[in-house]
Amino acid sequence: MEIKKENKFKRFFKRYGALAVAGVFVAGVVLAVAFAVTSISSNVNDPTEDVSGGVMKFGLPMEDAVVVKDFAEDRLQYNSTLKRWEIHLALDLSSTKQDVFSVYDGVVASVKNDGSDGCTITVNHDNGFVSVYSSLGEETNVKEGDKIKKGDKIGIAAATAVNELADGGHLHFTMLLNGKEVDPNNYLDLQNK
Ligand SMILES: [Zn+2]
Repeated sequence: MEIKKENKFKRFFKRYGALAVAGVFVAGVVLAVAFAVTSISSNVNDPTEDVSGGVMKFGLPMEDAVVVKDFAEDRLQYNSTLKRWEIHLALDLSSTKQDVFSVYDGVVASVKNDGSDGCTITVNHDNGFVSVYSSLGEETNVKEGDKIKKGDKIGIAAATAVNELADGGHLHFTMLLNGKEVDPNNYLDLQNK
């Protein structure tokens, strides 16, 4: 009986083995295509689209500002403080009043002075966006844990960033999306800065 069973098993595989392999292959292809479609559609999704179908419209971190140094991930810019060429994944702004505002509603994640970037406020927003305001004066208007609104004044730009001292008082503004620096020009309406 046992042998007969085994033969049946072998016969089954001889007959249908190729079919089973083909089946697994097809299933793999279907899964791969499904995965590709999912990742493409998630790229197409605008990260600024909020849960209610609205769009996150960011404000400006400064009023009447001039760009001291722009964001650029594909070219080196000269750092006159450190006297070297470097990638600058932030946007440096300066204005007469030097007031700094939150670009969107959020929660203050931290307020700290780490030396190289000077006094820095980090704000968490929806959809994986984080805004980071560096080179601020020590006197800030917010503290860790504060819930703030777009346009709230959070501090004043100064010359506290040791690695950008030669640029004078300015805001070194970084925008992160899911932990990666993104170009603020893509999200802020800098034409009206
Ligand atoms: Zn900078």
